[in-house]
Amino acid sequence: MKSQKNRKCLECEEQLLGRKDQKFCADYCRNTYNNRLNEDVNSTVRKINSILRKNRRILAKLNPNGKKTVHLIQLAELGFNFHYYTNSYSTKKGHQYFFCYDMGYRSVENQEFLLVHKQEYVS
Ligand SMILES: [Zn+2]
Repeated sequence: MKSQKNRKCLECEEQLLGRKDQKFCADYCRNTYNNRLNEDVNSTVRKINSILRKNRRILAKLNPNGKKTVHLIQLAELGFNFHYYTNSYSTKKGHQYFFCYDMGYRSVENQEFLLVHKQEYVS
């Protein structure tokens, strides 16, 4: 069990003398602490959103007509990030598609990818 004697403000580390569930010495510290946490979350979300949008842009650029096969290098050269996608989909045939919003792809042979647009192309 944590000692109640040495409780410190999570923001400024001032010793806390109030209620046992007290976490901050003052509203100012609570607000500063929570704002910083939210900033971190927001900036992470922003970064991931921008990667997803960039991925979608790349797929749309390489696949203007709804269906196309491209080489891994074409995607990589444009900065495609394979770690991020909005959803994935496995067909009955066992093909796994990855989507960035409405633009999707799946791995085919020889480091090539079949690009598709929307789910109606997936069957
Ligand atoms: Zn404090």
